[in-house]
Amino acid sequence: MAGLVAVTRNVLVATHDFCTSTTTVVTGADGSCLVVDPGVTPAELDDLAAELAARRLHVAAGFATHPHWDHVLWSRSLGAGVPRFATAACVAAATAGRDRGLAEAGADAPGTDGELFAQLTPIPSGGPGFVPWQGPRVGVVAHRAHAPGHAALVADGVLVAGDLCSDLEVPLLDLDAADPLGDYHHALDLLESLATDVRQVVPGHGHVGDRGELRRRLSADRRYLDELAAGRGDDDPRLTTDWLVRDHHAQRARIAAAPR
Ligand SMILES: [Zn+2]
Repeated sequence: MAGLVAVTRNVLVATHDFCTSTTTVVTGADGSCLVVDPGVTPAELDDLAAELAARRLHVAAGFATHPHWDHVLWSRSLGAGVPRFATAACVAAATAGRDRGLAEAGADAPGTDGELFAQLTPIPSGGPGFVPWQGPRVGVVAHRAHAPGHAALVADGVLVAGDLCSDLEVPLLDLDAADPLGDYHHALDLLESLATDVRQVVPGHGHVGDRGELRRRLSADRRYLDELAAGRGDDDPRLTTDWLVRDHHAQRARIAAAPR
């Protein structure tokens, strides 16, 4: 079982084995639910679907926080025709990067449903964004850090942060962007502005934290960005896995090479 844990009355979170990925489920009064970033391996997606069914929850909509392959997966067990929303920029990036993303998914999550992969519907752009579903209001906070069209969601006092605010990963920049550091600082400012209204934070990879923990992570992420800008950052306590250290070195090299 996916092991959904209630974080608030309307928000459940599952934590998967693959890269400590999380799925957030927002529930509505009529037994409908919104599934945000549904997990990675086919077994994780099917476990989630089984647990939702056991709880008599019906998947009314999905949401992908950003276009990376491990956030745009889906399974027939969750409902092949369910609308899966994302920002317009996320949909454009996921569509453009579909072949590459599907190849990565095939390597790391064999058995991925290729037909349903990255089949996303853009939410209306401009103005304050909300997920267009019938359940409780879910705010969309779009920014450009980590990936094009990244969105954090705010539901029932919970900040669903996507691939930001992790206790396990340093900030991972979009090195294809014109100003990866500036984009990231801007996103952290946006999330900080929400912190007074938020009781819990759910990172895309890592552990759920309270408001104090959100502030601690924002501060740790700012410190990392400042260190990276100065050509350092190797001492961040989150740099404990080989792939993350490799990504950190790539970021340091890219930032050092960027014109000032
Ligand atoms: Zn990502």
